[in-house]
Amino acid sequence: MVGQKKVIIIGAGPSGSIAGALLQKKGYQAVILEREKFPRFSIGESLLPQCMEFIEQAGMLQAVRDAGFQLKTGADFLHNDKHSEFYFSDKFSPGFNSTYQVQRARFDALLATEAQRQGCVIYWQHQVLGADFSGDQPMLTVADEQAVTYQVEADFVLDASGFGRVLPRLLNLESPSNFPVRQALFTHIEDRISCGRYDRNQIRIIVHPDITDVWYWLIPFSNGRCSLGIVGEPDVFNAFEGNQQAFHALVAQEPTLSALLPNAIFDTPINSIKGYSANVSALFGKGYALLGNAGEFLDPVFSSGVTIAMKSASLAADVLDRQFNDQPVDWQRDFAEPLQKGVDTFRTYVTAWYKGGLQDVIFYDQQQPNIKAMICSILAGYVWDESNPYVKNSQPRLDTLVELCRTTV
Ligand code: FAD
Repeated sequence: MVGQKKVIIIGAGPSGSIAGALLQKKGYQAVILEREKFPRFSIGESLLPQCMEFIEQAGMLQAVRDAGFQLKTGADFLHNDKHSEFYFSDKFSPGFNSTYQVQRARFDALLATEAQRQGCVIYWQHQVLGADFSGDQPMLTVADEQAVTYQVEADFVLDASGFGRVLPRLLNLESPSNFPVRQALFTHIEDRISCGRYDRNQIRIIVHPDITDVWYWLIPFSNGRCSLGIVGEPDVFNAFEGNQQAFHALVAQEPTLSALLPNAIFDTPINSIKGYSANVSALFGKGYALLGNAGEFLDPVFSSGVTIAMKSASLAADVLDRQFNDQPVDWQRDFAEPLQKGVDTFRTYVTAWYKGGLQDVIFYDQQQPNIKAMICSILAGYVWDESNPYVKNSQPRLDTLVELCRTTV
């Protein structure tokens, strides 16, 4: 098409593929440059119902439904003898009541294939090395699969490079996160959890018996395997001789995990990622915007990463559409601020989780159903629904609730 606008997207993770498909739907040429060859491993396997809305917008819902991923209907929190379940069907906000627990290698490959099906072009093993936004059009320097470098121009660039954080690094946009450095150790296991002992449709979040800012995730997949991870400050892991030993010792310290996994086969090396929380000084600039983790990443505890990544893709595609149609756009007002609103709600809840207040709320045994439904909405990722008072005034509302739960225990 003569004069068709071309958007280059760096990275084919969830934010890149969703952005690519949405831009194709709006009539633009989306080109993704992806450093790796898919399928490739990625962490971030527990989705939230809110992200199903973006998958639907991008025309990928049926493909995701047909893929046979493990259904996810809620979250199950445990700490010693305390236990609290949240079912997404009880949530306050309208919208999806379930989602999936996904092996990201397969999930990301599926989204990328769906984006391609809609006309998005993907160059695999093309790594973006440089970016120049000083001219009329953005210009990227790229190394192809033979390590031959070339330059390519676009009408706009979306950085969806995740922890690669291509433009934040190249343009000096990196800014420290407010969260302390935390580390996650994780692996995939053949879980051999016997039937009836565990609802595989729920992610399980377990607080360490004694150290309340250390927690475990157990994310069952549909093939009899689970993702198992432990999150804490690095000192917790450094007390052991290496990650392997730390992982097994910490799993053994948690009685419900040990009881669930007596026959599990640990057949995959323990992986580690440290200092993953990140921020930037600006989410956009002349000729570019940052999506997903290339912008900000908070923390894994509420499985918010993929949902935020897809929300950023959806917002950016809308703003670009208006910009390409010569309508007035304000990236701060139309992209950064609306995105940030939801991110800030998650931030409030993540902060309160590690300080302990949110754990007191979650394990409070006299929860009023209407308030639990509002908290459940946030756990389902509906953090942009301002009709929920716990979204609209997240900090004061949560502070009051924490106080109430603590004084009436
Ligand atoms: P990514 O998925 O990281 O994709 C970025 C892509 O860009 C990659 O394919 C990469 O190869 C490519 N790329 C990078 N550099 C370049 C380059 N120079 N040129 C070309 N391509 C490049 N989120 C959840 O929703 N649920 C969870 O349960 C969850 N658990 C997590 C647990 C941990 C320990 C951590 C650290 C994070 C977790 N997350 C979770 C967050 C989740 O991993 C991310 O938020 C999500 O993957 C972000 O998607 P994205 O599209 O922004 O980037």
